[in-house]
Amino acid sequence: MVQHVYGCFRAPPTPPLTTSTPAVSFLAPQIMQPQDNRTNWFKGQGLWAHIPENQWKDWTWQYKHRLITPEQFEQFLPLTQSERRGFHHAQERLSVAVTPYFFNLIDRSNPDCPIRRQIIPRGEEAHNTPGEFADPIAEEEQMHADGLVHRYPDRVLFLVTNQCAAYCRYCTRGRMVSGVHNYHPRHEAALEYIARHPQVRDVLLSGGDPLLLTDARLDYLLSRLRAIPHVEFIRIGSRIPVFMPQRITPALCEILRKHGPIWMSIHTNHPRECTEELYQATERLAFTGTPLGNQSVLLRGVNDDLDTLRSLVHRLLMMRVRPYYLYACDLIKGSAHLRVPVQKGIELIRGLRGFTSGYAVPQFVIDSPGGGGKIPINPDYMESICPDGKILLRDYTGQLREYKP
Ligand code: SF4
Repeated sequence: MVQHVYGCFRAPPTPPLTTSTPAVSFLAPQIMQPQDNRTNWFKGQGLWAHIPENQWKDWTWQYKHRLITPEQFEQFLPLTQSERRGFHHAQERLSVAVTPYFFNLIDRSNPDCPIRRQIIPRGEEAHNTPGEFADPIAEEEQMHADGLVHRYPDRVLFLVTNQCAAYCRYCTRGRMVSGVHNYHPRHEAALEYIARHPQVRDVLLSGGDPLLLTDARLDYLLSRLRAIPHVEFIRIGSRIPVFMPQRITPALCEILRKHGPIWMSIHTNHPRECTEELYQATERLAFTGTPLGNQSVLLRGVNDDLDTLRSLVHRLLMMRVRPYYLYACDLIKGSAHLRVPVQKGIELIRGLRGFTSGYAVPQFVIDSPGGGGKIPINPDYMESICPDGKILLRDYTGQLREYKP
């Protein structure tokens, strides 16, 4: 085996390297899989088939009819003991809510359904393990106005609301979203901060979920940002298209088009979230000229196997959505049952790279505890750099290759 040598050559041990050295530590994933032509994507109203279609397609109906209490959930599925304990604890930690549309995606016969694990709380949320934090990536330390995080030199995070359409049990901002805690963004203070800092060229609207703002408020915020000469790049991070695609209305699309280009990152974790309605919503967004990316969180029992992750990234590409980041789950209090070893994430990326389109491979990152920002974590394909400039590399199948510029 060749030792890792960066900037300093060590003679490789025997046997001598050849370009046909067989792979020993690279597991070639099974690349054969059924073709996905959208015929098996979820569509329709499911448990709410009796509701008139015009109501189903109205996002305000979806929002008003969210399932919130354990009793509402138990109308459709028996909660486990752990989930009942989770509901109890959620009152102090992070509220529970899910739209009828997203609830339909749960496999109600499976207590470990990957959709269910994301949105129904479990008793494990009450267990804090050492090294977990309420604010794992130290956003509060870098908050310069209520809701305005300035961490990197040229860009800011503008947390415009504390509300979401549904609540993810692994939420990094569980300390401020869902109304359990007393957090209220101050838009004017944040806008003034951005205007006073000419180095800020990139503004990310997030929350909570910015697409829960009214059209008028979103239009106002985007107008104000567009009027700041040094703001070049505006992005929105939103899980609304995934939880409530009905929100992507013609009026909202017109606002995005008017202020465009607005880039948008959606947030899907499992291929079942790629439904026919989400497909239609991303098409509407794409036709406004909104470039679309996806951020996933690597979660135990949700997407920590190669077949699932591959299916997800392929479906995203079919929806014109570029898989962008795969996050290691932040060290949020009560999230140990959802976290996955980092090595597993590296193996998953290795299982994608080369075996599928480069566009389908997200960047695996750890958002560093303590506020250091995102750190890319990659499989290591470089074996050594020699003094003569020659580089020894492993290709995706495990074969050794030499590159001499
Ligand atoms: S949609 Fe985003 S902000 Fe809202 S609960 Fe989920 S992860 Fe947190």
